[in-house]
Amino acid sequence: MPGTWLECIRCGRRYSINEIAYRCESCGGLLDVEHDVDALKSRSAAEWKDLFSRRSRMSGWPYQSGVWAKKEWVAPQIDAENIVSLGEGYTPLLKVRNLAGLPEVWVKECGISHTGSFKDLGMTVLVSHVRQLISQGTQIRAVACASTGDTSAALAAYAAAAGIPAIIFLPRGKISTAQLAQPIAHGAIVLGLETDFDGCMEIVQGITSDHSIYLANSMNALRIEGQKTVGMEIVQQLGWEIPDWIVIPAGNLGNISALGRGLSMMYKLGLIDRLPRIVAAQAENANPLYRSFLTDFEDYQAVQAKKTLASAIQIGAPVSYERAVKALRAFDGIVEEASEDELAEASASADRAGLYACPQTGVALAVLEKLVSRGRIKHSDRVVVISTAHGLKFTDFKVDYHEGRLADVVSRHANPPIYMKADIDAVRDRLAAEIDRR
Ligand SMILES: *Cc1c(COP(=O)(O)O)cnc(C)c1O
Ligand SMILES: [Zn+2]
Repeated sequence: MPGTWLECIRCGRRYSINEIAYRCESCGGLLDVEHDVDALKSRSAAEWKDLFSRRSRMSGWPYQSGVWAKKEWVAPQIDAENIVSLGEGYTPLLKVRNLAGLPEVWVKECGISHTGSFKDLGMTVLVSHVRQLISQGTQIRAVACASTGDTSAALAAYAAAAGIPAIIFLPRGKISTAQLAQPIAHGAIVLGLETDFDGCMEIVQGITSDHSIYLANSMNALRIEGQKTVGMEIVQQLGWEIPDWIVIPAGNLGNISALGRGLSMMYKLGLIDRLPRIVAAQAENANPLYRSFLTDFEDYQAVQAKKTLASAIQIGAPVSYERAVKALRAFDGIVEEASEDELAEASASADRAGLYACPQTGVALAVLEKLVSRGRIKHSDRVVVISTAHGLKFTDFKVDYHEGRLADVVSRHANPPIYMKADIDAVRDRLAAEIDRR
């Protein structure tokens, strides 16, 4: 097979990168994109670092994108004229003091992105790939996904930019208003189904078994290839140094496998000489990976996900479970969970430190705090938390927290607005009291 192909994660059977396939025909396993790593060794580790560093200062197409700056490692098969980019990647890596029980934490702000979440990293590759297939004569009428909100926003935006129809399946009433508005605004066909995410996932798999509608969920390996750049970018932003831990919120489990794949590739190509440990953070109300971890991944059962504020990870039957276990084993990983109260307080604390954390990032921060308090993560460890979406997508969560309206949440940092008459003396007195209280 030339440079890049699809390969079954169970039996190793290979398929052409241009074949439309999401599972192995022999064994039903998921497929991963694999690259000819030996061919990539034609550049030394130092040469790759130099190339990636130079491109990070370039504004020329397509290297203004953090994903396409690493094109050779991600999707060499795609011609430049088929790339659909909205400037994804190169998100800030912030150093935050006194957070989650640590003197300093690095936060990778994946929500500072075109559609407000890390899903842009994968969607640019997937939609570009579809455009390439169409240019080669493949009949594709539309692209489709099931979503807890962010995948649909990203698919709708990239499909709109590419001029390809998008079909979105959402669990009715289970996503935020902002996330519902995004695909509608981009002109996607939006279907709110009377089910949960897992139910939408079944429908979209049925719909896309007719290959003229292309599947855009992360069970599709093309998405993972774009998302894998997040770990590479973190290492690059740390001056090619390796953190001790990376904490990541986990739902359908595509992103944690993507993180692992990017770092593994850097390791194989000699850009790093050891691997960080990975922590998967789950909401207690949707925790199948955590439960499986407690049995050392011997036993796995899908669960019925309960309602959680971390709605983007309210998933009970994660499609990429096997991929995630592979990554966690390779990276000496840990899985931990957070309650509704813990995730809400962790988000609020982060906001008080100047961040604006989405509830999924709250899960990651709460889990980090637990592991620090138990001594699993030490004060001297260098820790990166992956912030997966922008807090602005979750305005209801923020307002309800501060007005004390969230079930199972105490709202210790509640800071509701003060409503009063427009009387200058009363305002002056009140301000004096409020400033003293802080
Ligand atoms: C999709 C998403 C996740 C979970 O990623 P998976 O690949 O499904 O595990 C976490 N946080 C946010 C904000 C997301 O949109
Ligand atoms: Zn197989």
